[in-house]
Amino acid sequence: MDCLFCKIIQEEIPAAIIYEDEKVIAFNDINPQAPFHALVIPRQHIRTLNDITEPDRELVGHMIMVAAKLAEQQGFAGDGYRTVLNCNEHGGQTVFHIHLHVLGGKAMGWPPYQAKLKTL
Ligand code: 5GP
Ligand code: ZN
Repeated sequence: MDCLFCKIIQEEIPAAIIYEDEKVIAFNDINPQAPFHALVIPRQHIRTLNDITEPDRELVGHMIMVAAKLAEQQGFAGDGYRTVLNCNEHGGQTVFHIHLHVLGGKAMGWPPYQAKLKTL
């Protein structure tokens, strides 16, 4: 299968892996958007958030718990951090193997989109 993240899992493409277990791996993002920016991905290929099914419930919960564990290990759990799971075009998804972004180490802005306000 021609999937970048499956290739990272199969060690065909190198990545800075910071956590792994039987269900997921986490590695540093190649283009970090915060002092710490990692991606938590399932070993199982799931294309988008829309493709998650009932049997994946525990796996997706595990991805979130691994994100929290990484934040704790990195020492910014208390200050706070951002987790993001982009879906499809409007969500800004560019790699079609689900991945939970974990961003931390600095205060981040919100929201990502602002509706145009009507001016009088
Ligand atoms: P998305 O835009 O799909 O939510 O996020 C994809 C992320 O994967 C981006 O933040 C991008 O920098 C990261 N990425 C793309 N290619 C690679 C790669 O080959 N290695 C690593 N470590 N990250 C990648
Ligand atoms: Zn994949």
